[in-house]
Amino acid sequence: MRLVLASNNGKKLAELQTLFAPLPLELVTQGALGIGEAEEPHVTFVENALEKARHAAREAKAPAIADDSGLCVDALGGAPGVLSARYATLFGQPRSDADNNRVLLEQLRPHTDRRGRFVCALVAVRSADDPEPLIAFGRWDGEVLAAPRGDSGFGYDPLMWIPSLSASVAELTAADKNRLSHRAIASLQMLAMMREVWRLG
Ligand code: IMP
Repeated sequence: MRLVLASNNGKKLAELQTLFAPLPLELVTQGALGIGEAEEPHVTFVENALEKARHAAREAKAPAIADDSGLCVDALGGAPGVLSARYATLFGQPRSDADNNRVLLEQLRPHTDRRGRFVCALVAVRSADDPEPLIAFGRWDGEVLAAPRGDSGFGYDPLMWIPSLSASVAELTAADKNRLSHRAIASLQMLAMMREVWRLG
């Protein structure tokens, strides 16, 4: 089956391509099909992922899967949340991983509770009007460091400390991140649902 991936974030795509390798799927990115980005107008990850998956399925006339993910920090009421990719722009700063990380540290400075989690919603639809979308969700708990550590990964990885591993996410190998992450947890659920409901593989 050909499945359109509704994401243009290269690093997220690479992770999803590895995670979905076990299924007999030909994964093609929406960018490769000339499909533009969907709007992400909602306040929850699951609604935005559904919006993105529907948009890709409608444009490609094919089954599609979308991920919406980000970092939710307890002391900030769940922020950056669905605005994780453009958090710094809310404070008049440029949109980049480095700016997002700097702004997050500034916002957390007055707080002692630094707990948060990466979350990932994955939604797959067989068509734009599929009444039965497959919805998977993954969470990965950690604590926001006072300064970045490590060079791998992307986004908030250098600030996310995983106490059980005594490492920041950016200090993990790609293989370890792909085994443990919010995206890995959601992908495993999604693989199981695709096998059961879509009768794949
Ligand atoms: P989306 O493309 O709208 O889903 O935005 C995802 C944003 O959340 C990214 O730009 C990162 O800032 C953040 N994010 C999501 N997953 C990860 C991760 O695995 N590591 C670090 N940051 C992440």
